[in-house]
Amino acid sequence: MLSLLERNLKSVQGRIQRACERVDRDPAGVTLVAVSKYVGVDLIRGLYDLGVRDFGESRPQSIWEKSPQMPADIRWHLIGHWQTNKVRRTIPMIQLAHSLDRRDLATVVSDEAVRVGRTIPVLVEVKLVDDDAKHGFAPSEAAEFFQQREQWPGLDVRGLMCMASLHDDPAACRPTFAHLRQLRDELIHAGVPTANVGWLSMGMSQDFEVAIEEGATHVRVGSSLFEGLIGDD
Ligand SMILES: *Cc1c(COP(=O)(O)O)cnc(C)c1O
Repeated sequence: MLSLLERNLKSVQGRIQRACERVDRDPAGVTLVAVSKYVGVDLIRGLYDLGVRDFGESRPQSIWEKSPQMPADIRWHLIGHWQTNKVRRTIPMIQLAHSLDRRDLATVVSDEAVRVGRTIPVLVEVKLVDDDAKHGFAPSEAAEFFQQREQWPGLDVRGLMCMASLHDDPAACRPTFAHLRQLRDELIHAGVPTANVGWLSMGMSQDFEVAIEEGATHVRVGSSLFEGLIGDD
């Protein structure tokens, strides 16, 4: 008998698979980032034992706390707002920062990366919805950032990230995801190498299938994986 966690994981993986089939994409091109911000290390370990290696946290402090307790081959993704005073301690622990949302942060991350002799993979967060609670570059600022990216030699820029608005109807998020993909295509057209802008982190529990149909390479899924296992379900 499958555990609830395993059933949830298989269900999410099946939904990813079917979304890929609908638009003729290879599921290997979509990374499921398990957003573990709601849970403790036991459930993270449960998913790890089921084969999941990519985990996302929205707070740097949660990565500081959880990663030392977890196997070293986990790839930690920072998906939330990153304060500049939390850069130094976080850099050695993460595989990818999805939420590079402003130039001063880019400078602090790049300087620290150079100092330790590394480059840090990052996605540029773009604010596509009118919501004061959301962070990110305006699309035109993001384009400018990409053109000037050599000013930040410690950054290994890989792509773009966005958050859609919360809607009851996931289809309502489609224009936002299509917008991020268009921005990527425009940047490629303007000469930015695909290696620097190819990845698109978009889609959460409510809307990841639509995001995949629109080209997401990374989906950030939390609640759907932990349904029935966390407090307020
Ligand atoms: C919490 C969070 C998610 C996951 O949201 P769910 O709806 O629980 O899947 C994805 N991205 C970001 C940036 C988040 O903070």
